[in-house]
Amino acid sequence: MPAAAWGGSPIRPCAWLPAGPPSYARLVGMTAAADSPPRPQLDPERMALARAYAREGRRLLPIGLALSAGYFIAWWLWVQGPLVAWLEANVASFSLQVVVFMALFGLGGALVDLPLDAYGHTRAVRYGLSVQTWRSWGADLVKGLAVAAVLGLPLALGLYHLMAAAPATWWLWAGLCYLGVTVLLAQLAPVLIMPLFYKFTPYEDAALTNRLAAVAAAAGTRVAGVFRTNLSSKTTAANAWLSGLGRTRRIVLGDTLLEHYPDDEIVAVFSHEMGHHVHNDLWRGIFISSAVSLVGFWLAGQVLAAVVAYAGYTGPADLAAFPFLVLVLAGFGFVTSPLLNAFSRRQEWAADRYAVTHGPGPAAFADALTRLANQNLADPEPPAWQVWLSYSHPPILQRIVAASRQ
Ligand SMILES: [Zn+2]
Repeated sequence: MPAAAWGGSPIRPCAWLPAGPPSYARLVGMTAAADSPPRPQLDPERMALARAYAREGRRLLPIGLALSAGYFIAWWLWVQGPLVAWLEANVASFSLQVVVFMALFGLGGALVDLPLDAYGHTRAVRYGLSVQTWRSWGADLVKGLAVAAVLGLPLALGLYHLMAAAPATWWLWAGLCYLGVTVLLAQLAPVLIMPLFYKFTPYEDAALTNRLAAVAAAAGTRVAGVFRTNLSSKTTAANAWLSGLGRTRRIVLGDTLLEHYPDDEIVAVFSHEMGHHVHNDLWRGIFISSAVSLVGFWLAGQVLAAVVAYAGYTGPADLAAFPFLVLVLAGFGFVTSPLLNAFSRRQEWAADRYAVTHGPGPAAFADALTRLANQNLADPEPPAWQVWLSYSHPPILQRIVAASRQ
């Protein structure tokens, strides 16, 4: 990469890069040997595009927030009261009241989000990240709503029955149920939910499978399952992940990765996922989010008890008190999501270190990240506030630099 890529281009070197206009080769601290293929470089044009894409996305953040808040306020002012009165007058069954109420609230929210979601799709197509047709996009939207209804309505129903049966301690049972449901969903998602959106086939490549098995054996574990998925049917971006618990545990590699990356880099990405597996990151994530949720339910329990006493509702399960439940849970979720993201970034750093020490080496991992940054239009330097607020992974440039320093 020419020095200008970091000097005179729109790409601003970040504070922790070496002074002057460092070339990327210097950044990673090594140069390719004469007989080896050239190592991937951060492409200045792709990085400028990534920054523009991220900048646009940031401008949309307050719009999304305002839409959600506006919807909630409008619901509270104009829908909540008449709807509860109508349900109480016309629907005898409490269960049916809850289901109709929640279905309408959820559907309304989805409708309000729709324009921004659709605009997000046009942006992804415009930047060349999505190859999905409107038809396929619409089908995913409908499937997503169906999954939300099939999972969300029984959960809402369960929560309201808990609140009706145990008005003082429902928050504790809700917290424990949250743990149970999360474990169950983590187990079932790879086999029941994700196949609704992508195809998964066992990954078999004679040369690579042996290398992946060797990485797993070095970790003292066997590969629970390595799957290939057809990400390319919808996106040009590459990805890989670890999902499932117990018998559904698997490492998934996107075809967008498998078809364009050298073997060493695929093994490096696999090693990162193996790091998550070895560190038990899925279980740790489940326990942390369950503990945080328990606190959220406790807080909601206290606020609802106070509201019930003050406003004369029949109890926490009174649908008239629903806006207070949303207010507390959404507010608590907003405040605690940076904490959960910080926890997730720690796990990612640890998995990166694992990949560097247990994979084919730092260069292969840094090269895979470089290729990913170019391909996925990953913002190399997102502002600190955005990382703190919403990044589950460290910014990609920091990861490349860290891998290169090993
Ligand atoms: Zn990871």
